Amino acid sequence: MILWNDRLIPRNEASVDIEDRGYQFGDGIYEVIRVYGGKAFYLTEHLNRLEKSAREIRLPLPWDFGLLAERINQLVDANRLVEGTIYLQVTRGRAPRNHAFPEKTEPVLVAYTTEVPRPEAMLKEGIRTCTHRDIRWLRCDIKSLNLLGAVLAKQEAVEKGCKEAILVRDGTVTEGSSSNVFIVRDGTLYTHPANNLILHGITRSIVLKCAGDEGIPVKEETFSVDDLYAADEAFITGTMVEVCPVIRVDDRKIGDGVPGPVTRRLQKAFDGQIAHQCGQ
Ligand code: PLP
Repeated sequence: MILWNDRLIPRNEASVDIEDRGYQFGDGIYEVIRVYGGKAFYLTEHLNRLEKSAREIRLPLPWDFGLLAERINQLVDANRLVEGTIYLQVTRGRAPRNHAFPEKTEPVLVAYTTEVPRPEAMLKEGIRTCTHRDIRWLRCDIKSLNLLGAVLAKQEAVEKGCKEAILVRDGTVTEGSSSNVFIVRDGTLYTHPANNLILHGITRSIVLKCAGDEGIPVKEETFSVDDLYAADEAFITGTMVEVCPVIRVDDRKIGDGVPGPVTRRLQKAFDGQIAHQCGQ
């Protein structure tokens, strides 16, 4: 089953119009939500961010958010999803092709589930990454369907045998192509401030809270590529990658080239959040 606006329907009964503005302009927004043990993780926070993205692109959403949360939980149950993801997107809907907003729009919401195991090997061993120029627009805080900048960066990373592209704007590390980036230096955690140049990751904010609980000092400050190369530890965060150690950036080892102790502590604290929220 899938969620189509506010109804659960079989997947083969849904169809997207060729003049849907999401399809033609990327005129829409989305969320990816993790499911652990059959329960959606931080669902309210994801729906709040969806509402914020919608406001930023001036897309009025007609659905009651309490009901939407209920429908998403029903979707997970109907598909008997235990471990996986919910992909949810809303577009401005169907209209004759014209850049400006149509006078009347009916947004189209689609959500579906996919079984995906936790990325155990990456979490244990860490990943290789490479840097890439951040060629995206200046509203990266909106979780918009326009992902070409991220797609091109990720593809180059994959072609170099890396799992993530770390984006660099004017010498400053902003975030990953689909993750936020943290470094540890002298026991302090650094990550880019939550402004217009990065997505305000839900996992990022969970990790900042965990760091507070663990007594790890945090600075939401920019840092350079050289700071990243010279860091004691580095990791990325995201709904799909959780808290994932970075052991290499370009041709440099980070720290000892293995996941570091602060990263391990935060991974453990993050597991605690999963256990607390989803009873895993
Ligand atoms: N930054 C970007 C560009 C992303 O696309 C994502 C997730 O897809 C993130 C950060 C991490 O956000 P979250 O932790 O909410 O999944």
